Amino acid sequence: MQDISEKLDQEVLARRDDLIALTQDLIRIPTLNPPGECYRDICEFLAARLKPQGFEVQLIRAHDTPGDSDRYPRWNLVARREGTRPGSCVHFNGHTDVVEVGQGWTTDPFGGELKDGLIYGRGACDMKGGIAAAIVAVEAFMAKCPDFAGSIEISATADEETGGYGGVAYLAEQGYFNPDRVQHVIIPEPLNKDRICLGHRGVWWAELETYGRIAHGSMPFLGDCAVRHMGAVMREMEDVLYPALAARKTAMPVVPDGARSSTLNINSIHGGQDERPADFDGWPSAVVPDSCRMIIDRRFLAEESLEEVRDEFRQVVDRARERGPDFKYRLSDMHDVLPSMTDRDAPVVQALSGAMAAKFGKDPEFVVSPGTYDQKHIDRIGRLKNCVAYGPGILDLAHQPDEYVGVNDMLDSAIVMATALAGLLGVTADGEAG
Ligand SMILES: [Zn+2]
Repeated sequence: MQDISEKLDQEVLARRDDLIALTQDLIRIPTLNPPGECYRDICEFLAARLKPQGFEVQLIRAHDTPGDSDRYPRWNLVARREGTRPGSCVHFNGHTDVVEVGQGWTTDPFGGELKDGLIYGRGACDMKGGIAAAIVAVEAFMAKCPDFAGSIEISATADEETGGYGGVAYLAEQGYFNPDRVQHVIIPEPLNKDRICLGHRGVWWAELETYGRIAHGSMPFLGDCAVRHMGAVMREMEDVLYPALAARKTAMPVVPDGARSSTLNINSIHGGQDERPADFDGWPSAVVPDSCRMIIDRRFLAEESLEEVRDEFRQVVDRARERGPDFKYRLSDMHDVLPSMTDRDAPVVQALSGAMAAKFGKDPEFVVSPGTYDQKHIDRIGRLKNCVAYGPGILDLAHQPDEYVGVNDMLDSAIVMATALAGLLGVTADGEAG
């Protein structure tokens, strides 16, 4: 493996300028989501690059998925390059969408400025740098090992930042991640170049609504305040639930450390009248709120079941009703994702580990992501377990102002991806297929 790794090392390094230009070009296509801008543009840009290299390219619109419309169509690209003989298929998947720009930038968020070896822009690290590194890795591999067995796929998909339903989930439903078609998947999300991300924690989103009775605000004793009922629930959460969640630790190697416990975020809370509209400068009227709604985002561990997670929260609400005045409520599921963790012995993990040991002289750190990403759809809809996230960029920079990706990090991870590709497609030291 050492020989092929050195050859690929040189081949990737020779493509430094091309890698920089490709990353800049991708950043300059402002694929903001929501609403889902320029998806077709970025797919066509990538198609124009991959077609001349023998890739069979499909542009696929995820019709009727959330957010899909003629104004903002959900376009995805799947490119496939067959080798000279049958063999397994290695798939690189990257999401093309980026989150809103936000405040605090000192560079042009869609300029792709290169300064001191760093490329700046919205999506630089999450994850246009990863897409560019994977493409350059594949191209370097094909240049050095043209006679490979099996096939290579590259997909560029929509909507990861909003759940992936118009992207990887749609493709998985259409059979693109069927284990008969694809055997190994690498998602170059920004998890740091010396770490392999095996999966993610579970998610349960739910909405709790407490009910009361409307009355005049000057005589609240004649009504029943739904916000105070929600307050009772929150007191119970503070006293009992949060300490219990913090004490629960997982054996999953979740990073950062704080996410190794169960967590619950109160995403939003609203009770009573709507906030004053911008075009109305009058006063609110005096009423007792008869409804209060809270949306919760509960992240759970492989050691917990979704049923337990739901029951635990319901018990919190019921205890609040026992401790104080009784009230009616509604608790409804919004969506859920089960935890996912690829086995450390899986072929894609082994191939990446070997390539990282060759490149960095040490074993990788195995991590699990606190939040979910498109692996969830590949696992649950595609039923494909041999999937990890590995790519350049510093996770903490994702979604921040002045987001950047380091050119050397991209080169290093491209070398690792190219070497892992060689391993997975059975290429031996002399560049010939074994
Ligand atoms: Zn991402």
